[in-house]
Amino acid sequence: MKEQLRKNLDEIIWNIEQARITLNEHHIVKLVAVGKYSDEESIKTLYELGQRAFGENQVQQLQQRMENLEELPLEWHMLGHLQSNKVNKLIELRPTLLQSLDSLKLAEMLNSKLAQKEQKLSCLLQINAAKEESKSGVHPDEAFDIYQQIKESYPHIKLKGVMSIGAHVEDEKEIQKSFELTHKIYDSLKNDGATICSMGMSNDYELAIRCGSNLVRIGSKIFK
Ligand SMILES: *Cc1c(COP(=O)(O)O)cnc(C)c1O
Repeated sequence: MKEQLRKNLDEIIWNIEQARITLNEHHIVKLVAVGKYSDEESIKTLYELGQRAFGENQVQQLQQRMENLEELPLEWHMLGHLQSNKVNKLIELRPTLLQSLDSLKLAEMLNSKLAQKEQKLSCLLQINAAKEESKSGVHPDEAFDIYQQIKESYPHIKLKGVMSIGAHVEDEKEIQKSFELTHKIYDSLKNDGATICSMGMSNDYELAIRCGSNLVRIGSKIFK
């Protein structure tokens, strides 16, 4: 198992390297390994291979893994839609980054619960750049304004940038368009302190990096 994981990880790191150098030598890309198709043993093995950042898309799974792997110095990212009845639990877990802040309503609720606990939480604003009904996230036309509004009104949320999922289509041009749109919004938010542009998964991470992503979230290609 370790050899397979090593092979997968090496291949992905190599591909990330090629893609980022195509863009710019100084463009650094972070890899978050997404554990939802895998188990704790594999996460531990990946840690031994040098990986430190992991993501989950369910609060319950995140909690289990954070608890069971507590002794390892890992950073944890929440990637999936956060239901309102899971907000308290997520706050207690203190993840490194909530990447899926996908509405003003959620921002308001998070902020008030964070305020009660005198805590802050780093978040990315999720943008539904492909405008797909099946996906959560704010509409790209509204993303800039919503970002400002969260910054001004919800001080317990530390906004660090944006996240989006590439268009779910075969046509690479369409996927590219959704990444370019997200990156353009990210650029417009740099003056507001945005430093993270999270785009790219197993099937589209190289394209995402060439479009300016500096954080990729990869599951199946690592753990398969
Ligand atoms: C599952 C998931 C990923 C990883 O998906 P793969 O295609 O397996 O790499 C990335 N981001 C989010 C939000 C996910 O839910």
